[in-house]
Amino acid sequence: EELQNFRPTKAVIDLKAIQSNVSNLRKHLHSDVHIMAVIKANAYGHGDIRVAEVALKAGATMLAVATPEEALHVRQFIADAPILILGAVPVHFAPYAAKYNITLTVFSTEWLEQVAALAPQFEKPLLIHLKVDSGMGRIGVRTAEELHAVYEAAQLENVIVDGIFTHFATADEEQTTFYEHQLATFKKLVASLPKKPRIVHAANTAASLVKEHVQFDAVRFGISLYGLSPSPYVEEHLPYDLRPAFSLETELVHVKQLHKGDTVGYGATYEATEDEWIGTIPVGYADGVIRALANQEFLVQGMRAPIVGRICMDQIMIKLPKKMSVGERVVLIGKQGNDEITMQEWASRLNTIVYEIPCMLTPRIPRVYK
Ligand code: PLP
Repeated sequence: EELQNFRPTKAVIDLKAIQSNVSNLRKHLHSDVHIMAVIKANAYGHGDIRVAEVALKAGATMLAVATPEEALHVRQFIADAPILILGAVPVHFAPYAAKYNITLTVFSTEWLEQVAALAPQFEKPLLIHLKVDSGMGRIGVRTAEELHAVYEAAQLENVIVDGIFTHFATADEEQTTFYEHQLATFKKLVASLPKKPRIVHAANTAASLVKEHVQFDAVRFGISLYGLSPSPYVEEHLPYDLRPAFSLETELVHVKQLHKGDTVGYGATYEATEDEWIGTIPVGYADGVIRALANQEFLVQGMRAPIVGRICMDQIMIKLPKKMSVGERVVLIGKQGNDEITMQEWASRLNTIVYEIPCMLTPRIPRVYK
């Protein structure tokens, strides 16, 4: 413990922001709708256990992850809350899922036929949610016929069809035609079952916040748990303010003056045009601050300081607005003074979506909590 975090580079996760994002959602939803906190990929890079604890306290009642490994990790720390694995899992994981009370996503009769041989030996009943592919084209059954076959195959000793769900491809867009089509397909398939499973769910963040009549029995709340908007369209139509939880900061470890003609970094691509103050920060592409972020600005004393030269594996040089001291705080993502560098700013520079930003910041960056 004490031999950690000597490097000043750290991600600071504001748990109060996460709490606020969940409790505002709680007020926005019908009171009988469950909130499933989506904490896959180490809670989108924020830290699965700390996020799960806060989300459950603030009103979430279920958790969702992507893989068996993620589910088992969460179960070590969180004894009771239901955990749903959203992805496909191998048959040989089923006995562990039953034992550790982990709910599985199921969409294949072959999978169930193989599980049938193992199920009588399960220590506890296995809960499953059936997955409908209503247009995402990823995993799931696509027709009522397929759904009924899977439903029938799931009528096994020690297996309980606890839920059914689908996932929207376009819920974050203004255009609703495709979304309406997915919703209608899903509703039709659910209604065709002989018995409605306990929990029907479809909405991701975007649908939870900006679409009506899709709350069903639960919503799967991912990106906005972390205070980020799924898309610019949703950002403009938010029913309440989101609070970003993640900031990334470090400190200047070296400050020097360059003169006209002096260069910076590999390839000597940056050349000073006058007397300039250059600061070095101990963070680089091995932390996920990838080279494509070239020219991004960071905040120092509330002012913008652009990256100069190429990003190195472990260090980056920035052009300071004036002479500054070693130890000066540098904000790569987050607020300082009256300015803010958002994850969306990084995402726009990288031509990607905001989801990718916290996920790409590697485990070398310690996550600390406030
Ligand atoms: N449900 C499923 C099946 C997902 O794959 C995801 C994330 O990609 C989510 C819900 C959460 O989506 P969002 O982060 O947009 O809320």
